[in-house]
Amino acid sequence: MLRKIGIDAIEVRKVQQLSEIDGLIIPGGESTTIVKLLTRFEFVDHLRERVNCGMALWGTCAGMIVIARELADPYPIPLNLIDISVARNYFGRQVDSFEAELHIEGINGDPMRAVFIRAPIVQTVGEGVKQIASTDDGQAVAVKKGRVLATSFHPELTGDTRLHTLFLKLAKEAQEDPRQNSSTAVNPSSI
Ligand code: GLN
Repeated sequence: MLRKIGIDAIEVRKVQQLSEIDGLIIPGGESTTIVKLLTRFEFVDHLRERVNCGMALWGTCAGMIVIARELADPYPIPLNLIDISVARNYFGRQVDSFEAELHIEGINGDPMRAVFIRAPIVQTVGEGVKQIASTDDGQAVAVKKGRVLATSFHPELTGDTRLHTLFLKLAKEAQEDPRQNSSTAVNPSSI
């Protein structure tokens, strides 16, 4: 999806690569596993530092859980990169997965088709966090604060690149942010 809109995308597998990018997507999957791996491979501090220096960040589905401030569930311990509280598997089990049409603030044109797979929900948002999309009953499923975006659904599954284009805009802003250069480079000897 990113390459389709002209982004020079890489798969980040090593912590040093965090210094090479203007935006990071933490994708869907299994949030406990993702947090375990981020911790084991010592991503957490560097990721936090990059985000504090203005790097764009987008958590989708499990990624939303990973970057939340707090969870309604006992684990994983989320990274607190955006001030939201989140409940995992809110809509039920895998068989309860569904699709919905969403109006998303900042996205023009038709509503977006969104694919929810054992998806989380945002239960509360902190100061300055904007709810940009909700389900029919008003539950927040997409939020944004500054250059940090979190969505409950899987935006990569429909072919609609409009949210990715929004994220590209945030990554371009990050590229211009002088704090990006002042962020301490990862010390290769510590890896
Ligand atoms: N249910 C998963 C979790 O709690 C997220 C599912 C997904 O990313 N599609 O981590």
